[in-house]
Amino acid sequence: MDAKGYYLMGEAEIEKVRQLPEKPRLLMHSCCGPCNSFPIEYLSPYFQLTLYFNNHNIYPYQEYLRRFEELKRYVEYFEKENDVSIELIQPVYEDEMFNKVLASRKDDREGQQRCRMCYSMRMQEAFKYASDHGFGYMTTVMTISRQKDSVVINKIAERLQPQFPLVQYLYSNFKKNKGMDRSVQLSKIHNMYRQTYCGCIYSFEDMKNRKGIKDE
Ligand code: SF4
Repeated sequence: MDAKGYYLMGEAEIEKVRQLPEKPRLLMHSCCGPCNSFPIEYLSPYFQLTLYFNNHNIYPYQEYLRRFEELKRYVEYFEKENDVSIELIQPVYEDEMFNKVLASRKDDREGQQRCRMCYSMRMQEAFKYASDHGFGYMTTVMTISRQKDSVVINKIAERLQPQFPLVQYLYSNFKKNKGMDRSVQLSKIHNMYRQTYCGCIYSFEDMKNRKGIKDE
């Protein structure tokens, strides 16, 4: 399926959900404040949202905490402003285990196989959590990122879906509906921290090389 096809599948599902008497529970894999800002605004009228911050890829730990705190700050603002309740779950940070897997593809450029493994591991973990905890739906905010191909992410979800028959994956392309512009706008309004690299140690080193930053 192409990008438009997946996007339309997601929109058709949202249209079905709009007709339901109660909002179904959706677990959303969430990586940072800016990437979540539009998806939260877009989906919260239709779903009872729970955010799942499973991002063992983020290096160093201080950066992981910073992204989490920024997301938490936005969620607290959004809850108050819109009189809704959004749970934010932070599983244990298991960077060692995660990075052992990524290290096998450390020389890949961003967007190649290492990234596919990274998306897939985090999405599988979110699917499992959703399945174990009775969620009707699962999705990820990652399709909003300019650096990430929504087709790759949606295809991973399609491949994982049969392992979790109790949870329905909500296909998405959060760049659509002016999602990317809105996310930039919300980030500015809320003075959010916008990171300059994707997350793992390899993207951190790439960023340092690009900027000419030397180790002390
Ligand atoms: S560049 Fe980003 S998506 Fe790719 S492996 Fe690193 S953290 Fe994961």
